[in-house]
Amino acid sequence: MNKQRLFYLGILHVLIIILIVSCSKEGDKKMQKKEISIDSVLEKIHWLGHAAVKINGTKTIYVDPYELSDDAEKADIIMITHNHYDHLSVEDIKKIATERTVIVIPASLLVSLEYSVNKVDIGQTIIVMGIPIKAVPAYNIVKSFHPRSQGYVGYVFTLDDVTYYHAGDTDHIPEMRAVDADVVFLPVGGTYTMGAAQAAEAAKDIDPTLAVPIHWGSIVGSEADAEKFKGLCECEVRILEKEH
Ligand SMILES: [Zn+2]
Repeated sequence: MNKQRLFYLGILHVLIIILIVSCSKEGDKKMQKKEISIDSVLEKIHWLGHAAVKINGTKTIYVDPYELSDDAEKADIIMITHNHYDHLSVEDIKKIATERTVIVIPASLLVSLEYSVNKVDIGQTIIVMGIPIKAVPAYNIVKSFHPRSQGYVGYVFTLDDVTYYHAGDTDHIPEMRAVDADVVFLPVGGTYTMGAAQAAEAAKDIDPTLAVPIHWGSIVGSEADAEKFKGLCECEVRILEKEH
């Protein structure tokens, strides 16, 4: 065998090895998908109407509390995605905040709240009471309600080994492809956010174990939007009953 043939044979071997390694990495990614029990998750997650979500676990977490009942459970952590009245409601924060509660808001918001506030930049992960919380972008692409320049956010956070994504008020944006979450809360109401079809595309990008439609049933969006979203999604979707 001459040197040239040996050389090409060597390159071929290297290429085959690269191919095998990259294939197994793909396989690993799929294998890595956590086994999440949907039933146990459903016991912990509560849709409180509009974009308001509560998650129970070793901590009680709210995202965008709005129109809560006066006796709502107290919060350990409250995350606020942006400063529109139906997402940042001081009246509702007062119902659930104690002196121990930590409120997480986007760094771009110029609000002062009489509580312990942690600001988070887009792309940054902070740890609050042991819970990693990452702020990810949330914005409209064509509509003008939530311009990218405002620095509004969605949140990706892990509580008790389950990673949640609350998208905030957003359209289907390219950054969603980088979101890795087991359970996603996606707006489906349209007008100010993405509608059902766009939300289903977003769910396809993220490929969660469970998707829950939000931002419907009050102000904008109807149950038909939630049903349409469910029909278009390839992943498991649960339309939650509104709780108080
Ligand atoms: Zn908004």
